[in-house]
Amino acid sequence: MTTDNATDSYGLHQSILPSSEGLYGEFGGKIGHPELAKAMDEIEKGFREIIKDDDFIQEMKRLRETYVGRPSPIFHARRLSEHCGGAQIYFKREDLNHTGAHKINHCLGEVLLAKKLGKTKVIAETGAGQHGVALATAAALMGVECEIHMGVVDIEKEHPNVSRMKILGAKIVPVSQGAGTLKEAVDSAFESYLADLDNSMFAIGSALGPAPYPEIVSYFQSVVGREARAQFLETTGTLPNKVVACVGGGSNAIGIFSGFLDDKEVKKVGVEPAGEGLDTLNHAATMTLGTKGEIHGFKCYVLLDKDGEPAPVHSIASGLDYPGVGPQHSLLKDNNLATYDSATDAECLEAFMALSRLEGIIPALETAHAIAYAMRTAKDMSPEDTILVNLSGRGDKDIDFVLDKVTL
Ligand SMILES: *Cc1c(COP(=O)(O)O)cnc(C)c1O
Repeated sequence: MTTDNATDSYGLHQSILPSSEGLYGEFGGKIGHPELAKAMDEIEKGFREIIKDDDFIQEMKRLRETYVGRPSPIFHARRLSEHCGGAQIYFKREDLNHTGAHKINHCLGEVLLAKKLGKTKVIAETGAGQHGVALATAAALMGVECEIHMGVVDIEKEHPNVSRMKILGAKIVPVSQGAGTLKEAVDSAFESYLADLDNSMFAIGSALGPAPYPEIVSYFQSVVGREARAQFLETTGTLPNKVVACVGGGSNAIGIFSGFLDDKEVKKVGVEPAGEGLDTLNHAATMTLGTKGEIHGFKCYVLLDKDGEPAPVHSIASGLDYPGVGPQHSLLKDNNLATYDSATDAECLEAFMALSRLEGIIPALETAHAIAYAMRTAKDMSPEDTILVNLSGRGDKDIDFVLDKVTL
């Protein structure tokens, strides 16, 4: 099979497709427990079948249009652009999706896949609770049990999402080990999955983890990039100079980047959390300051502590608070097909308020990192230039937290 055929049949650009071992260059793979590797093979086989299955394709199309509300629009943020005084800023409005973020795109796919494999339950981790809510939503829609592992610190911070998951019928497993955030939640969810491989499927929350998860998640998120490119061309007659997205694990970023990987002139920029500053230990800027290493069954850029273990990391946005990153982004960085920058907690809060006050859009704290970078870089560009930001989610979940931090 030629690479061109591979691109056609998967709808994913060859630069982010894995080898038959699930490798992206030296990154990715499927490391760890042999039982887990067997389960991964079963999931991969199901995935390859389902994406060619006409019933699945039709069902996905129906749900995207009538349940999620796709295509999500592209919006020209005129007042924000004027405020920055430079490039024109546009948003791909993934915040308008049902459940308020991009994660529903891969959750619908994952639960459909679980059903195809005859599983009665999906298990997952969640940070900000966005993946948990999206998965609990898809599970309710399709009549599948849902078990969500969440750090106790995040449970405290993201209370509205915890209530949503409970109402949707999900079982919440609080995780108090370590820092009580996303990394520990992933460990706990994997453990629970290993204990029930026959009946359950692990439904990961980002474009990372052991193969085939990065491929599955980016496949289901690629709809964002495909739509965005066509919509942007239609509204402006050109392509954007820059496409910008925040990077936690990398699912919303790989989704929008994937539509522009053939367009060399379009700069793809991922924005990581610089937390309290890159010169402190309190950040989660994996690509900017990490080294090549292993986490949760795959190889990627990772922030390690002095013992070589994944480091405790910090971001004001729970959904970005992870010491690893997807293998596709790790490779895009090494191949210079995308660049990675960062924004601090303080810049993020400023962008959060600016978008709320100038455009009437309250963004998720995760998304506000991408907005902060766009606001910073717009100033150095000309008014004819354009920036397209993936507005990955809305900020309803963050309002109480932000009110505590800013003086109005
Ligand atoms: C989870 C989340 C993110 C971070 O996850 P990625 O996989 O990096 O996209 C970003 N934005 C929102 C709104 C989220 O919910």
